[in-house]
Amino acid sequence: MKLHTKIALGLILGGLLGGGLRALAPDAGWVQALGDNVAGPVGQAWLRLLLMTVIPIVVTSITLGVAGIGDVRRVGKLGGRTMGYFALSTLISAIIGLALVNALKPGGGVDPATQAALMETYSEQVGSMQAGGPGGFGVHTFVNIVPRNPVAAMANMDMLAVIFFSLVFGGALTLLPREQSKPVTDVLEGVGDAIIKIIELAMRLAPYGVFGLIFQMTSRFGWSLLGQLGMYVVVVVLGLLLHASIGLSALVRIFARISPIRFWKGAEAPLITAFSTSSSMATLPTNIATAETNFEVSPKIAGFVLPLGATMNMNGTALFEGVTVLFLAQVFGVDLSLAQQAVVIVLAVLTAIGAAGVPGGSLPLMMVVMATVGVPPEGIAIILGVDRILDMCRTTLNVAGDLSAALYIDRVDKESPFVAPAPTDARVVQASD
Ligand code: ASP
Repeated sequence: MKLHTKIALGLILGGLLGGGLRALAPDAGWVQALGDNVAGPVGQAWLRLLLMTVIPIVVTSITLGVAGIGDVRRVGKLGGRTMGYFALSTLISAIIGLALVNALKPGGGVDPATQAALMETYSEQVGSMQAGGPGGFGVHTFVNIVPRNPVAAMANMDMLAVIFFSLVFGGALTLLPREQSKPVTDVLEGVGDAIIKIIELAMRLAPYGVFGLIFQMTSRFGWSLLGQLGMYVVVVVLGLLLHASIGLSALVRIFARISPIRFWKGAEAPLITAFSTSSSMATLPTNIATAETNFEVSPKIAGFVLPLGATMNMNGTALFEGVTVLFLAQVFGVDLSLAQQAVVIVLAVLTAIGAAGVPGGSLPLMMVVMATVGVPPEGIAIILGVDRILDMCRTTLNVAGDLSAALYIDRVDKESPFVAPAPTDARVVQASD
C-alpha cells in the first residue's frame, strides 16, 4: 500500500474510532483515558521524532545555504538574480496565503470553551520557543534575535536566534579560504543528509502517529473541528491556485518573457512528478530534463538554478506555512498582531528556504514558526491528517517556481552570456592578500 494511502487510512480510522467511541459513550472515562494514555503518547512520540530534527536541519540548511551563496556570488550577477527571484516569488506566495487566510478565516467560529480546552491540551511546548519569551513583543524581541550564547539558543529552541546565528556562521564561512571552510561544509552536508534520512523514516511512521493524534483529538473534542479543517484545505488549495494562475504566471510573463500558457503546458511532466512524489528533490531530474528539452534552457543554467531551487525555493511551502500558522492561531483563539503576522511571513520565507525537499520536509520547521508566535506546535496534530494531500499540491507549486526561475535566468544569460568564473579560488586569493 502507498504511504499516502496509509496516512489517509490512519486519519480516517483514528477519527472514526476516537469520535465514534466518544459519541457512543460520551461520559465514559476510559475513552478519554485511552486517548490520553495510549493513542496520544504514540502520536506525541512521533511528533517529537520530527521536532528533534529541527535544530540540526535549520543550522545545516541555513548555514549551507548562505555558504553556498558565497559560491553563487562568485558565479556573478546570475547568482544574485537567482536568489532575488527566489526571494521575490516566495514572498509573493506567502503574502497571497496570508491575505487569503485573514479574509476567509477558516479557523474562526470555534467556541471559546473548546479553544480553552484545546490550549490546555496542546500548550505544553509554547513558552520557551515564543519570540521574545512569553512576555510578548517589544524592543527586546529584536535584541533577543542576537543570541548571547548560540548553544543556549539551540537548547531552548529560540529559533530566531538560531536562524540568526546560522546566517552569520554561513556568511563567515564564505570569508574563509576554501581549504578551511570545505571540511566544515562537508560535515554539515553529511549531518544534513543524515537528518533528512530521519525525517524520511519518521514519515514512514506517519500513519501510526497520525492515527494516535487524531484519535486523541476526536476522543476529546468529537468531530467539531471537521468543518474548519475542510475550510482550511480549501484556503490552502485556493491560495496555491491563485499564486499559480496570477502570481507565478505574471512572474513568468515579466521575467522569463514567455506565455504562461506555454509555461504550464510545457511543465506538465515535472508537475505530475511533484504531485505524485511530494518531493522537490525527487522531481529534480525530471525538472532538469524538461527545462532542457521543452524550453531549451542551456544545461549549464538548468544544472545551476534547479538544484538550488529544489532546496531553497519553495513558493508553495511558504504559502502553506503562512496559512497553517494563521489557521491554527484562529482555532486556538490566539490573536496575532500585524507585527506578529509580519514575523510569520518572514519566518515562512526563511523556513521555506531551510526546509528539505522531501515529503513533509517543512513540518518540523513549521512547528517552530507556530511556537515563535505563541501557537502550540502540538496543535499541528489538527492538520496532519490532511497534510499529505496539501504536500502534493504545495510541492507542485514549489517545482513550478523552480522551473520559472530557470527560464528567467536562462533568458538573461542568453541576452548577455555568462562568463565562467576564473579557475583560481577568489576566497583563497582574498585571504592571502
Ligand atoms: N514536500 C515539499 C517539497 O519537497 C516540502 C514541504 O513543504 O514539506 O518541496
